[in-house]
This record gives sequence, structure tokens and C-alpha cells, in this order.
Amino acid sequence: MAKKYVYLFSEGNAGMRNLLGGKGANLAEMTNLGLPVPQGFTITTEACTKYYEDGRQINPEIQAEIMEYIEKLEKITGKKFGDTENPLLVSVRSGARASMPGMMDTILNLGLNEQVVEVIAKKSGNPRWAWDCYRRFIQMFSDVVMEVGKKYFEVLIDRMKDAKGVKQDVELNADDLRELANQFKAEYKEKIGEDFPSDPKVQLFEAIKAVFRSWDNPRANVYRRDNDIPYSWGTAVNVQMMAFGNMGDDCGTGVAFTRDPATGEKGLFGEFLTNAQGEDVVAGVRTPMHIAEMEQKFPKAFEQFVDVCNKLESHYRDMQDMEFTVEHEKLYMLQTRNGKRTAKAALKIACDLVDEGMRTEQEAIAMIDPRNLDTLLHPQFDAKVLKEATPVARALGASPGAACGKIVFTAEDAKAWAARGEKVVLVRLETSPEDIEGMKAAQGILTGRGGMTSHAAVVARGMGSCCVSGCSAMVMDEENKRFTLNGKEYHEGDWISIDGSTGCIYDGIIPTVDAEIAGEFGRIMGWADKYRRLQVRTNADTPRDAKKARELGAQGIGLCRTEHMFFEGERIEAIREMICSDTVEEREVALAKLLPMQQGDFEKLYEAMEGDPVVIRFLDPPLHEFVPTEEADIEALAKAQNKSVEQIKAIISGLHEFNPMMGHRGCRLTVTYPEIAKMQTRAVIRAAINVKKAHPEWKLVPEIMIPLVGEAKEFNFVRNIVVAVADEEIKAAGSNLKYKVGTMIEIPRAALTADEIAKTAEFFCFGTNDLTQMTFGFSRDDAGKFLTSYYDTKIYEFDPFARLDQTGVGKLMEIACKLGKSVRPDITLGICGEHGGDPSSVEFCHNIGLTYVSCSPYRVPIARLAAAQAAIKYGED
Ligand code: PEP
Ligand code: MG
Repeated sequence: MAKKYVYLFSEGNAGMRNLLGGKGANLAEMTNLGLPVPQGFTITTEACTKYYEDGRQINPEIQAEIMEYIEKLEKITGKKFGDTENPLLVSVRSGARASMPGMMDTILNLGLNEQVVEVIAKKSGNPRWAWDCYRRFIQMFSDVVMEVGKKYFEVLIDRMKDAKGVKQDVELNADDLRELANQFKAEYKEKIGEDFPSDPKVQLFEAIKAVFRSWDNPRANVYRRDNDIPYSWGTAVNVQMMAFGNMGDDCGTGVAFTRDPATGEKGLFGEFLTNAQGEDVVAGVRTPMHIAEMEQKFPKAFEQFVDVCNKLESHYRDMQDMEFTVEHEKLYMLQTRNGKRTAKAALKIACDLVDEGMRTEQEAIAMIDPRNLDTLLHPQFDAKVLKEATPVARALGASPGAACGKIVFTAEDAKAWAARGEKVVLVRLETSPEDIEGMKAAQGILTGRGGMTSHAAVVARGMGSCCVSGCSAMVMDEENKRFTLNGKEYHEGDWISIDGSTGCIYDGIIPTVDAEIAGEFGRIMGWADKYRRLQVRTNADTPRDAKKARELGAQGIGLCRTEHMFFEGERIEAIREMICSDTVEEREVALAKLLPMQQGDFEKLYEAMEGDPVVIRFLDPPLHEFVPTEEADIEALAKAQNKSVEQIKAIISGLHEFNPMMGHRGCRLTVTYPEIAKMQTRAVIRAAINVKKAHPEWKLVPEIMIPLVGEAKEFNFVRNIVVAVADEEIKAAGSNLKYKVGTMIEIPRAALTADEIAKTAEFFCFGTNDLTQMTFGFSRDDAGKFLTSYYDTKIYEFDPFARLDQTGVGKLMEIACKLGKSVRPDITLGICGEHGGDPSSVEFCHNIGLTYVSCSPYRVPIARLAAAQAAIKYGED
């Protein structure tokens, strides 16, 4: 049998969402429930996919099927499409599986032309309504199908209102609207070069094609990427008989929620406009009335509406967002869906639904989008001001939250300005580890280069600071402290606002409001912990981050990047001395200065985690990242080292690498300079012995993690150094401390030879930032520059540094897990790349049987919830 591409509303149901899209499935479900739905049909998402497969054409079979359903609809309604006696007018609306604001939404009153409008004007005795419908149709069709900007028509409407001396559209009479319709058609002809189509069939197919096309428009593509929606899903199209809210004062249209989408409070919430059609409510042409006022205006329709709301909410067992029309006091339902809501409302609604006996705890957990939790933990822009604001550019939303401040260009300035009480946004081409203190002092960070795992992004997420990265539209002139963006030159001290969740950049001041953690947050997190199997640890390098992560529920530290401890105060000097040493002895003198500082840091981290696991990763970045670049710093270092400036410069240039990410870094540093690992081992073990003495009740077992291993012998070489020093320290202290030595899996070769490595490695932790970089061969700092072309061409649909590539990188992880377990069945397996805080990646980690995920502190609640959702979705192991 030929595939069916079109379904009447009466043929579908809510379970057919994948095929009918959300809107279509719910229109069908409402029809089945016997609610007053103007009838229609849905053209499936598969028809959309076919449209693209056929080279952006609706093939003749599908066209014929659509026309067959037009005939069926004519039978149901007793009206005829394009007829001058009793014409059928329809709306055409998009409807994907997940609601997508980036797509074409609605065309109303389709089927009208010069003759039909005359007929309905006469027959209804309401020419104003008829011409109002026609001018709206021309306007919407031109805008959404032919992409003639709305603004051209709005100018004409304003001109007409001025000429007539009226303020509102409703005050225009039938003749005015007829005149407007003619003006609109002339405008259309001028812009498109053709007459406005009068054949309803042509109108219909053009509208359907426009919906299909809108699936691939840039806004939709960005929205899909941000919301993990695959391109392959396609959108459905709904063709529905019109119900008219613009036939007079006994008509109207509205949108309503069964609970407040901002707070979650139970009760009808929404807006209503008399004598209007759908888009008027959202377009703000007139101020709508509160939904409660509808009760006075249309008591009967209101009573029926309240009844429908109750029915729908208890049917879907979730807050509903509905569109409806009242035609001559009769109610018609045009749409229902689970309403979008703020994170705060999501938590409240989930808890309330459990308390009302409508949902189980597990279902409540599954209802919350973990990514939304971010907004509960960071400052946000004042929603009212934001609504009026237009971004000047958009880049990567690298670390959530909102920031507003004066532009500064250096970390020193950020620190100095912040110290005198100024709010600043640090704007850099890219950040380096040296900028850490300035980044801490700033409200937010904006960079011209770098992707989701660039230094700025990783560090900002760790600190919970807002960061927008990779703004390639910015032309930076750091030297002269200025940059150009969207045609405007910005200088030090100018105000800028950035949104680290959306990546939007705004000119000037948008005030921020502090995050507020509602009471339900703890309750939901408690449920999540009850159901998840994955442990959630944190990536934290400072006691402050560790404490924050603990507050947010971290069960240990999964990654402490020890190099981040080297940048503060006198530490950087000691590490520079170490780098510029000529002999092992000189190096050891410099390292001896660092030892007590590292030991002190580790003690604080152990204390923050109260005996829970702490994984300390040994020095990882190439040494050139630590050396000075400023002349004055080079001179100071030369003096401290008793060397000439030239000698220091020669050492620095000797560190230059063409490809530092694949260069002398990670465990390779230990192979060359074992004394670094020795110092770090002493610090880890001595700190643990001290803390254990103070807290004998804690089960403190430090875990030493060796980065960038690619070969078992390489791991063993470093491990032997670590074990020798650790055992010596433990023996000298007369302690019985236990410790573990394991490795990161971040090089494909390590994954492929994991059985060899697991013979001596007690744990694996997937460093998926590097593993992604090395598997794709994409530089993690530069890929942002060209990935956009990959998204445009659909070669890749998302940033593999933000969301785990399960097909490639994931396969390596699975291989490593399997090989690792084959020699060490109880091996601990974790992940500490940025993916550890991404919900779909967490789900994957659950499925391949990892022990824990580790992520930056502010993502800990997201990972807890995502881990619970995965456990609930896939049941017990
Ligand atoms: C990784 O590579 O995934 C990782 C966690 O290490 P880093 O980001 O420090 O290279
Ligand atoms: Mg790494």
C-alpha cells in the first residue's frame, strides 16, 4: 500500500506526535475528546522529509493526496474551496514534533480572492469582516510565504489610520479595509513582480511549501542546534477550517495557560481580544484584556472554556498552553500543548502535579528540561527590558547567566576597575590562563575566538561566570582598546550586555536580576538522587569552586586541573623559574617552592569534599602557557634566575610548538621532567595524610590521574614514579593511607589499547574535550570558526565539543570501557570533559555503564537531573 502522508484530525491521536507533529497530534486528540475543534487535516513530517528528498518539491502523489483531503474536508464542513457560493477558508500552520519558534507559524484566511471576498461580504452582511480577512491574508501570505517584510504593510496601515484620524485597526471600516487590500496587492506586485495569486489551490501549495522551507531557515537551524532537535525530524503542516474571531463584538480570540508559565501558580492565565484574529494578541496592536474579563464578555463561552481547560489538563496531566477563538459566542479550540515555562515554574508545576496525585515522582522528574535549571543558578536579564532589546550580534553561549558592565580589555583593568566598585565585562580576542583573576573580577567575559571548550569557556563555567565566546563578527583592536561590532566602534568604558545562555550581545545597559532558588528545587533534586545510578562529581580547582559544587550536590571532585593553581600570586613566578631552569637541581629548587602551596590547596579540597573522592590530575598544558609575554615580566624573571634577558627569551622561544595541543604536554612533561610529578605526588600524599589525621572518620583515598596517556608503557613509566614517591611518603609518615593511580582516556590510541592500560591503571576518566579534538582532528580552540559551515551544510548538526558525538567519540568510549573491564572488572569509569554536564551526553554515559560524570559546579544539578532521567527512561540495569 502506498504510504499515507495526510491524516484527518479524526484519524490521529496524541501518540502520533512523530508523524503529525505536536500541533497535529493534539488537534487530533482534542477531536477524539469531543472538544469543539474546527476540523482539518495534517500533512505528515514524512511528507516534509520527502519534500527535501525530492529536491524541495511536493511530488504529484502527495499533491493529489492533499487535494483528496481538501475534498474530504469539504464534505465534513459542507463548504467548498474556492467556491463563490459557500467558500471554505482555512488556516495553514506548521507543527514540528517539538514546538519551534524559529519556524513559519501561521497563515489565516487562505482561500480568499477578489470574487470570494465579495461573496462572503454580501452573504454575511458583514463586509468589514470580509475585507478584514482578505487584507490580513494578503499581508500574512506576502510575509511568510513570499518573505515580503511585514513592515511594508504596517506602513500602509499606519498611513490609512492617519488619513482616517483613527488610532486602532478595529476603527477602520469596510471601505478602508477594501482600499488597504488593494494597496497590499499593489505592494505585493511591486515587490514580487507578479500578481497576488488568486487561485486557492496555488495559495495552498505555496503555503505548504513555505512551511516545509521554514524547517531549514537559519532561525530554525539555530534553534534546533540549541535544543538538540535533529534535522531529520521534519515538520508537519496543519490545514484547518477557519473559525472567525473578527466577525464583530461577539467574537474574539485568545491564548491561555492552565497555570502561570512564569511562576507555576495554578489558575487560568492568559489574554483575550474581542473582534480580532490570532496574531493580534501576540502582535500587540491592541492591548488584550486579562482572560478573566472574558467571563463578563462571553459568560457562556467562558464557562465552556474553563471546562475544556480542566479536561485538557487532567487529560495531558500537565500545564496546557491553548489558543482559541470565539465566533458569535461559540468556542473553538485551535491548539493545545504542554506549555513552555520558566525553570522556576517547571519545578513548581512538577511538585504540584505530584501533590495533586496527577504524576509520579519519576514522571515529574522526566518533565523538567535539565538545561533550564541553569537559569535558576545565575543572574538573568530583567525580562521586561530584554523584551524590548535587539542583539547586535550572536556568538556562542559558552557559560550561562547574564552580565552587564563597562568594557575593559585586560585582566588587570578588570581587576582594578572591579576593585573600585565598577561592573565590567572583560572583552578579549581570546583569554589565557594569565587572565584568570581578571575573569573572576568581571561580571562576564566576551571573546572573539574560541569554542565551547576554549579556555575562556571552561574557566568561566567553572567559576559560574557568564561567558560569550567565539564572536567572529567582532573586529578586535586590543592594543588600542577598541573593537568594532555590527558597524559600531566600542571603547573602554562603554556599556555592553551579554547573555551566556543564548550567546546574544547587546549594546548598552540591560539590568540583571539575581537568581532565586525556589523551595521546590531541593525537592526535585532529592527525587533525582533517589532514582539515578550515575554518581555526579565536579570539576573544581579551588576550594571556593569545590564548596559551591558541594552545595549543589557534587559527590566528589572528578577533575582538579592542578595547573589552574599555578597562576595566582607568587606561584606563577615559581613555575616560571622551574621552566627556565637549566638543571634538574635548579628545577627542584623552584618546585620546592610550589610544594607547600599545592599541598595547602589539596588539603582544602579534601576538606571541602569531606572524605568523598578527589581526583587530582597532574600538570597538563604545554609549558609555554606559563611563560611571560610582557617585557617587564621577562626582565624580572631574568633577574630572579640570574640569567640575561636574551637567555630567557631563548628559552621561551625554544618552547614554541607548531601544534601545542598535540605537543609537549600531559604525561609527556613527566617523561621529560619526572621531578614535576614527584613534587605533585608529595603534595597529594602529604595533604591527604594531614587531613586524614584531622578527620580519621573520613574514607579519604586520593586519586592521582595521569593526563594524555596513549600507551601502557608511558602510563607505567609515570605510575612507577608516582608509586615510588607516594609509598616513600606514606612510609615516612607511618601512615596507612591508600591511594589510586589512574589515567585519563583522551587519545584514541588509549581507548583502543585500554586493556593494556587497565592492567595497571585503577581507573579511567574520559577527557572528552581532548578525545573529541583528537578523534575529529578539530582544534578545540579554532573549530568554532568553521563549524558554522558544517552546520549550514548539515554535515554536522551540533558542536561535538558541547554535545558528545556518540557515533564516533562514543564508540571509542564504549571500546575503552569494554576493554578496561575485560582485565579489571571493577574498574571505576568516569567522564570529566565538558560533556559531563550535557544532558544527552549524560544519558549516553549512563547507557555505557560509567560510574560517574564530572562537570563544572553549576552544572552539577543539571547532571543529577539528567542522570535520573536516563535511569528512569531505561529502567534498572
Ligand atoms: C579533557 O580533555 O576532556 C579534559 C577534561 O582535560 P582538559 O580540558 O583540561 O584538557
Ligand atoms: Mg584534556
